[in-house]
Amino acid sequence: MTEMSYLDGNMLDGPLRELFAVDLSAATGRCQSCGMVGPMAALHVFSHAPGLVARCPACAEVMLRLVRAPDRAWLDLRGTTFLQVPMPAQQPFPRPL
Ligand SMILES: [Zn+2]
Repeated sequence: MTEMSYLDGNMLDGPLRELFAVDLSAATGRCQSCGMVGPMAALHVFSHAPGLVARCPACAEVMLRLVRAPDRAWLDLRGTTFLQVPMPAQQPFPRPL
């Protein structure tokens, strides 16, 4: 891969927040290529393509692609084995009356 400038994964927060109600930059992901587990905010994000391409900081394989058109978006997570998303603690169910 040639040297290109990139932004860190924190910049994915705005574009992904439009799709998901949770902050995915706070999520943890596993790279399908090398198995590294780390924060999505650590990904190297390239915006020189028709969309955003986020690469693993360890092996540089693509973990996420996001393309936004005026009326739709495409999210490709083929390079990500899983996303672990922090969630608020589940509230106990209210007792029936
Ligand atoms: Zn990797």
